[in-house]
Amino acid sequence: HSAELLARQERRESAARTYPRHLPIALAEGRGSFVRDVDGNVFIDFLMGAGVLALGHNHPELVAAAQRQLGLLTHGLDFPTPAKDEFTAAQLSMLPGDLGRRMKVHFCGPTGANAVEAAVKLCKTATGRGEVISFQGGFHGSTHAAMALSGLVAAKEPVRGTMPGVHFFPYCSPSRCPDGPVPGTCTRDCAGQLERALTDPLGGIAPPAAVLLELVQGEGGVVPARPAFVRRLRAVTRALDIPLIVDEVQTGGGRTGSWFAFERYGIEPDVIVASKALSGLGLPVALILYDARLDTWAPGAHIGTFRGNQLAFAAGTETVRIVRRDGVLENVRRRGEQIADRLARLAGLPWVREVRGQGLMWGVEMTDAGGRPAGGIAAAVQSSALRRGLILERGGRDDRVVRLLPPLNVGADVVEDACAILLRAVAECGP
Ligand code: PMP
Repeated sequence: HSAELLARQERRESAARTYPRHLPIALAEGRGSFVRDVDGNVFIDFLMGAGVLALGHNHPELVAAAQRQLGLLTHGLDFPTPAKDEFTAAQLSMLPGDLGRRMKVHFCGPTGANAVEAAVKLCKTATGRGEVISFQGGFHGSTHAAMALSGLVAAKEPVRGTMPGVHFFPYCSPSRCPDGPVPGTCTRDCAGQLERALTDPLGGIAPPAAVLLELVQGEGGVVPARPAFVRRLRAVTRALDIPLIVDEVQTGGGRTGSWFAFERYGIEPDVIVASKALSGLGLPVALILYDARLDTWAPGAHIGTFRGNQLAFAAGTETVRIVRRDGVLENVRRRGEQIADRLARLAGLPWVREVRGQGLMWGVEMTDAGGRPAGGIAAAVQSSALRRGLILERGGRDDRVVRLLPPLNVGADVVEDACAILLRAVAECGP
C-alpha cells in the first residue's frame, strides 16, 4: 500500500523529501499521460517527473530504442559511440539558423545543476573573470554553486560558504513587476538598471564572466521574462562582451512550444543549458551548447564519470525523431491554447491572482484571501486535484503557484479532463 511505503520511506530516508509530502502516493507504473499508484488508483500526471518525461511515461518507441541499446553498450564515458554521435547530431540539428554549425556540445552529468555549473565555469575560463549576474526568483539547482546562483534565499540561508561573486538583479516580467501586473504600466527599467551597474565606473560590479537567465522561471512560479527585457539584456551583454547563458533545463526540449524558449524571444544566447526533457524517458542526460569561441577548456579541465549514458542518448535521438515526425511542437502550442482558454474562467475568482504560461508550462498563482495565505490555498488546490485524480506541482513565492507540466504529446481529451479537475479544485478551495 502507498501508506506503508510512505511510512517506511519516512523512517529510512532523509527529511529533504518533498513530493511525497504534498502528494502522498507511492508510484507503481506509468503509461502516457497517466500514472498508477501501488493501490491501483490512476492519476493524470501533470508533473511528469518535473517536466522530464517529454513524451509521457514509457513511450513505446523510446522504450524500444533504449532496449535496443541496453544489450549493446550502456555507459561510454567520453568515448565516441554511434549512440552519442547520433544524439549530438540530433541536438545540434534542433538549433535555429546556423547555430548548429557555430555551437559546440559539452556533455555534463548527470543533472541540470551539473550543467549550470559547467556553463558558469566555462565562461569563467573563457573570460578570465569571476563574477556572475543572476536574477531574483531564479532557480538553477541545489549543488553549491547552482544554489548560490539561485534566487531562493531560504535554501541558501542555512548553508555557509557557497560560491561568492553572484549579483542579483530584478527579473523583469509583467507577472512579477511590483508596479503592477498590467503590461505597459511598469515604470521601472530593469535592464537599464543592470546596464548602469555594469557601465558606471561607480557601479560596483567588475565585468562579469556571465549573465545567467531563465526565459521562463519554472520553480520561481512559471514567470516568463518580458521580451523587451530579454532583447535589451542581449544587446547590453553583447556590447560589453559578456557571455549570456540561458538556463533551459526546464524550458528546453519543446516545453514552451519551440525547441528552446530563446527562439521565441528573438535572441541568440552564447551558452544554452539543457537537461530534463532531452532523453524523453527520464534517463539522465545534461549538456551545454555554446559558441565555439568559448571553447577554451584544456583536455581534462572538466571531467565527470556519468556523462556517457548511452540509453539516454538512444532515447534522446528517438525523441527528436518523434518530435519532428508527430509535430509535437505544434501540439504543445495547440494544447497550450486549450489550457489558456479553459483556465481563463479562473481569472474572475478573488483568490486567483493570475493564470499564465507558455506552451505546456502553466501556473495558477493564488493570492491571500479571506485571511488565508496564498500558499495555503495553493496547497489545498493541489490536494483537492490529487483526490480528483490529477497530479500537479507547486512553486513560486511560498509555493503559491499551482503548476502544470503535461507531457508534450498530451491529447486534447486529457487536457480537457485535467482542466475540469483543476477548475473544480480551485473553485472549491476559496476562503
Ligand atoms: N535549472 C532549472 C531552470 C531547473 O528548473 C532545474 C530543476 N528544476 C535545474 C536547473 C536543476 O536541475 P537538476 O534538478 O536536474 O539538478
